[in-house]
Amino acid sequence: MAKSLESEHPIKAYGYAARDSSGVLSPLTFSRRATGEKDVRFKVLYCGICHTDLHFVKNEWGISTFPAIPGHEIVGMVTEVGSKVDNFKVGDKVGVGCLVGSCRSCQSCANDLENYCPKQILTYGSPYYDGTFTYGGYSDHMVANEHFVLRWPENLPLDSGSPLLCAGITTYSPLRHFGLDKPGLKVGVVGLGGLGHVAVKFAKAFGAEVTVFSTTPAKKQEALDGLKADHFIVSKDPEQMKSVAGSLDGIIDTVSATHPIAPLLSVLKPSGKLVLVGIPQKPLELSAFSLIMGRKIITGSAMGGMKETQEMLDFAAEHGITADIELIPIDYVNTAMERVFKSDVRYRFVIDVANSLKTA
Ligand code: NAP
Ligand code: ZN
Ligand code: ZN
Repeated sequence: MAKSLESEHPIKAYGYAARDSSGVLSPLTFSRRATGEKDVRFKVLYCGICHTDLHFVKNEWGISTFPAIPGHEIVGMVTEVGSKVDNFKVGDKVGVGCLVGSCRSCQSCANDLENYCPKQILTYGSPYYDGTFTYGGYSDHMVANEHFVLRWPENLPLDSGSPLLCAGITTYSPLRHFGLDKPGLKVGVVGLGGLGHVAVKFAKAFGAEVTVFSTTPAKKQEALDGLKADHFIVSKDPEQMKSVAGSLDGIIDTVSATHPIAPLLSVLKPSGKLVLVGIPQKPLELSAFSLIMGRKIITGSAMGGMKETQEMLDFAAEHGITADIELIPIDYVNTAMERVFKSDVRYRFVIDVANSLKTA
C-alpha cells in the first residue's frame, strides 16, 4: 500500500498546497527525504510566485499532479549537508530554481543544458528517483542534490533576488543564446510582468535599446522611468505598432495568455527573432506569410542550465539587478494568485516564508 505523504519520508515538512485544480492553496503537512550524501538541506527564507505556479495549480496545461506545492524561486539558508557535498556548508545562503534533477549523461547535460534534458526533474510536480513527487518552495525547507543548488552572491538581496531563479534565468538565457546581448541591438519585451520586467533590466545591462510592448498603458511611466526602457508601445494599438514596424532585432515574448503573434512578427526586422518564453494554454495561430516576408524566426526557450543560472546570478549581483517585488505573508497567497491572474502586481510577489509560515 502506498505510504501517506506524511510518512513516505523520514523528515516532517510543512507547506501550502493546492489539493485540486480549483487552485486554492492551504496548509499541508508532508515529508521530505533524509539528507543524502550529495544533498543540501536548507531552510526556505523567500520564494517568488511565478505565473507557472498559477498555471500549475489550476492544471491549465493538463500536466498537474495533486497535492501540488508550487514554488521554484527559492532562497534559503543551509542547515545540513551530506557527507560528499563539496561546495556548500551549514549557514551558506543558497537558491534552487526550476530544476532538482537531470540524467547528467545525455548530450544536453554534458553541455550544461540540464534544462533540455529529456529526464529533467522539475522542482515541483515531477516524479523523483524514489517514485515520490517533488514539492516546491512554498514550504518550510527543501532538500536537493548539490548540483542543482546555486551559490548565492554575497551582495545580492535574498528577497528581491529570489525571482531571478526563474524569471531571471528564463529571460537572461535566450537574450544570450540568440545573440540579443550586444550593445546597440533593438530588443523588444512583450508583457511587463515578472519575467518581462527583469528581461528589460538584463537587456538594458547588455546595452540594448529596449522597447516594451504592453497591454497596460498605466505601466508606461514605470517602464520608462523605473525600469529605464527606451520606448513603450501599447500592443493593442495598431497605430503605435505601425510606428515601430520592421525595426527590432529580436523580441522576448513573456505573455502568459493567448495573444496575437502576427503583430509581433511585423515589428521585427528581416531575419529578426521572436523568442517565446510565455506559455499560453492554447496553441498559436500563425500565417506562413508573417514569417516568409522577411524570413523571420520564431523560437522558444526554457529556463536555463545550472552553470548559466549561476553566471546569471553573479551577473545580476555585479550589475545590481533584482526584481521589483511585493513581499507578502504566506496566508496572502490565494489573493496573490488572483492578482497574478489579473496582472495586478508590480512586478513579482515574493513570499516571506520564514517569517510567516507557522508549522502545525
Ligand atoms: P506575469 O507576471 O503574470 O506576467 C505576464 C504578463 O503578460 C502580464 O503582466 C501582462 O503584461 C501580459 N498579459 C497577461 N495577459 C495578457 C493577455 N491576455 N494579452 C496580452 N498580454 C497579457 O507572468 P510571468 O511570471 O512573467 O510568466 C509569464 C509566462 O511565462 C507564463 O506563461 C509562465 O508560465 C511562463 N514561464 C515560462 C518559463 C520558461 O521556461 N519558458 C519560465 C517561467 C515562466 P502587460 O500588462 O504588460 O500586457
Ligand atoms: Zn517560473
Ligand atoms: Zn540529461
